[in-house]
Amino acid sequence: AKRAGGSAAQFFEPTMNQSAFERLVLENELRDAVAQDQLVVFYQPKVLMTDGACAGAEALVRWQHPTAGLLSPGAFIEAAEECGLIGEIGDWVLRAACREAAAWRDRGLEIPVAVNVSAMQFERDGFSDSVLEALAAANLPPHLLELELTESIAMENPERVIEQVQPLRDRGVNFAIDDFGTGHSSLAYLTRMPFDVFKIDQSFVRDMTTDHHARIVVETILAMAKSLKLETVAEGVETPEQHQMLRAQGATLAQGFLFARPMPAGDFVAFATESHTD
Ligand code: C2E
Ligand code: CA
Ligand code: CA
Ligand code: CA
Repeated sequence: AKRAGGSAAQFFEPTMNQSAFERLVLENELRDAVAQDQLVVFYQPKVLMTDGACAGAEALVRWQHPTAGLLSPGAFIEAAEECGLIGEIGDWVLRAACREAAAWRDRGLEIPVAVNVSAMQFERDGFSDSVLEALAAANLPPHLLELELTESIAMENPERVIEQVQPLRDRGVNFAIDDFGTGHSSLAYLTRMPFDVFKIDQSFVRDMTTDHHARIVVETILAMAKSLKLETVAEGVETPEQHQMLRAQGATLAQGFLFARPMPAGDFVAFATESHTD
């Protein structure tokens, strides 16, 4: 409700002041988190649509906060972007994920790991070098790394895409367009982009069994991927009905709570091992 005395409102904006203060606290804590190794990487399986075999993993960062418990990226990624820590966090996740995938490989599990790349990380000079360094440090073959760029990052930086993506792709690193379908891209533009995988945004997957429009979007993305010979990952698959419909429409991989939630690295190894010996 608006206050009667106009000038007092300038001094009493409880929600605004509180959130600015909280943001400051959060940013300071986040600096400590990076320095004190409070970040952890969880891995969510990507499985074959046909038989459920584990065919990939997405690295998803978590923050083991000293008092608040395990925090999801939704609670801190935006703050990390605003205070410039996202570059450092992104690099850390990339290195950790490459080491992890190399360890899987040593156990005979040749499973590619996918890492999310933020806009800031991607726009930075030397991004492709930092990826090559992470691969070399972990001794991971490039084809076992996939980088996920959101459709909007890819759209807003066409010259960056050519500069940063092509040299990595030439060495075998795979690229996925994340949250596909949400960025209003022109189809003509997208077909020219050097990508290997489309990740269908979970909003379409969620609605496709009930909403005709969402279903048509999914069908269109799958048809496009098929003619471009790209792989497709359907995100956020939660129900057998969604799974059935996606399989019938020819999506290659599924990622979602129906199959597995994001989990610590040790649990992922157990999941993948079991899925491979089935
Ligand atoms: P995203 O890249 O689209 O990742 C998928 C998100 O969907 C994950 O949330 C995952 O837990 C969630 N998810 C997977 N299956 C299901 C499902 O069946 N139902 C529902 N409702 N959700 C599902 P999470 O881990 O909370 O991550 C949220 C977002 O944070 C990610 O969205 C990504 O944009 C960002 N993020 C996570 N890790 C990183 C990172 O290391 N770097 C950067 N830059 N961003 C990250
Ligand atoms: Ca992603
Ligand atoms: Ca490839
Ligand atoms: Ca996504």
